[in-house]
Amino acid sequence: MNRQGRLTESGPRARTPSSSASGATSVTTSRPAPTGPVRTCVGCRGRDQRSALLRVVLDPAAAQPRIVVDVRACLPGRGAWIHPGAECLELAERRRAIPRALRAGGPVDLAELREHLGP
Ligand SMILES: [Zn+2]
Repeated sequence: MNRQGRLTESGPRARTPSSSASGATSVTTSRPAPTGPVRTCVGCRGRDQRSALLRVVLDPAAAQPRIVVDVRACLPGRGAWIHPGAECLELAERRRAIPRALRAGGPVDLAELREHLGP
């Protein structure tokens, strides 16, 4: 007696219970405050909007690694974001966060950034 207990899969019965593609308007896209792209400050590690942060990049033309302040945030390459304030600069310097964020592999001259922030 050969009972066919195994091969009972006869016919493509695999119907995926797909919900009817109608009326998928449950996504409400009505946010009062449009939040732009968010970046993390390398100093205080706080997240803020791009417009509130300052972007710095490595100067590709410099013989020694130095920072260029990317005022318009349009320079190519890896950038680091920092709040334009002395506190965050100090924090970033203390933790060597900028060279790390830019993967400079060594100390980076932050003179331009310091000048940009001013006294
Ligand atoms: Zn900060």
